[in-house]
Amino acid sequence: MCSSHKERDHVVIVGAGVAGCHAARNLAVDHEVTVLDRSGIAAEATGLSAGIIAPTLFYSDAPDVARHANDFFREFDDSHGFTFTKRDRIDVMTEAEATEAQELASRLSDEGFPVAYRDSSAVTERYPQFNLAEFAGAVMYEDTGWVDPYTYATALQSAARERGATFELDAEVTDLVSDGGDVSGVETASGTIEADAVVIAAGWRTSSLLPDGVDVQIRPYRTQVVVLEPEEQLSSEFPLGRVGSEHIYFRPEHNGDLLIGGGHYPIDDPASYTTDVDESFRLDIADFVPEFVDGFDDAGFVNGWAGIDTASPDTRPIIDAPRDAPDGLLVAAGFNGLGIMTSPVVGPTVRERLTGESPSFSTDLFAADRFGDVSESFEYVSTSDV
Ligand SMILES: Cc1cc2nc3c(=O)[nH]c(=O)nc-3n(C[C@H](O)[C@H](O)[C@H](O)COP(=O)(O)OP(=O)(O)OC[C@H]3O[C@@H](n4cnc5c(N)ncnc54)[C@H](O)[C@@H]3O)c2cc1C
Repeated sequence: MCSSHKERDHVVIVGAGVAGCHAARNLAVDHEVTVLDRSGIAAEATGLSAGIIAPTLFYSDAPDVARHANDFFREFDDSHGFTFTKRDRIDVMTEAEATEAQELASRLSDEGFPVAYRDSSAVTERYPQFNLAEFAGAVMYEDTGWVDPYTYATALQSAARERGATFELDAEVTDLVSDGGDVSGVETASGTIEADAVVIAAGWRTSSLLPDGVDVQIRPYRTQVVVLEPEEQLSSEFPLGRVGSEHIYFRPEHNGDLLIGGGHYPIDDPASYTTDVDESFRLDIADFVPEFVDGFDDAGFVNGWAGIDTASPDTRPIIDAPRDAPDGLLVAAGFNGLGIMTSPVVGPTVRERLTGESPSFSTDLFAADRFGDVSESFEYVSTSDV
């Protein structure tokens, strides 16, 4: 964390994905904020995302974080062109997973979240299209939904602009500038931009912008999506969901198609990958989905793509000053495929690091020093296992 909370009038944010845009929105209330992006708004992981919102599940151990994120999407809904689509979710469980799933559901329900465990026959009574013969049941969430990630990012941008933030797109940051032990700006192709603080929210490129000797424990991984057109369009009740044992998740599209995500694996050379979906992932989906949901025997392949996000050792982002960083430097990276739903914590956490103002949740989960000396090649943990 920053050793002291100095007045930091001008903050430069590197990256206009959801993380950078959310930080800009919250900081612009009382700071001069400049957001720089090498290409455009939502140009990388954000724009390629499935946009699923399920913080109750992924922050089940941190209910205040889940509540904050859930509340944010509902409060921000219907502003700046943004819409939160509410939709129930089923997380399908095998026999071996059922006991733990029941405990999770009852813990979350005790915390006041609308979550319950139901056996397979109760789930198929409500959603007859699913074939759950191989499964024991599902954890059912009633506080989940999805967003269009591009519109969400532009809505955050517009909210930040309303508060006075400036966005410079096509502006690649090539280096950080420090003065003594303090960060003093960034280098771009068109010159130096001075700053009192710099927040690097540059996705997998974050590490390459850090000064020599300063590291954050993140590593790039690839994750994919396929969209299928069923024989008849899905109803407006069709839920979101996940089959953890198959490492896939799904959600309906507004037009009744089905988006299916998965196919994650860590990579070392992100710059060499395309956004094309792997044939092997496409074939896995073509095998699994018609068995799992009725109406997909003759489904059409609509689209498929892949993107690169960053993993951290414990699947939670690092939103903090890295160890040995110049004073005034923060990173917000390592969102582990959950960056859209986790984005509401970015602005408040960055504010706490820079100004000392405490949010409604503990930011310890996002501290840079929580891993000790984990190496950069730490084992990748898929959030399908969370
Ligand atoms: C296929 C896929 C599906 C996903 N599904 C979900 C989901 O359902 N729900 C969910 O919550 N999350 C999901 N995610 C994860 C989510 O999209 C990411 O965690 C999130 O978008 C990360 O946001 P970010 O702002 O950290 O990074 P990014 O969106 O990658 O933004 C980083 C920005 O930094 C810019 N940049 C990089 N280097 C520089 C530089 N040197 N100078 C200037 N600018 C720079 C880039 O141009 C980019 O715009 C998914 C991701 C993918 C790829």
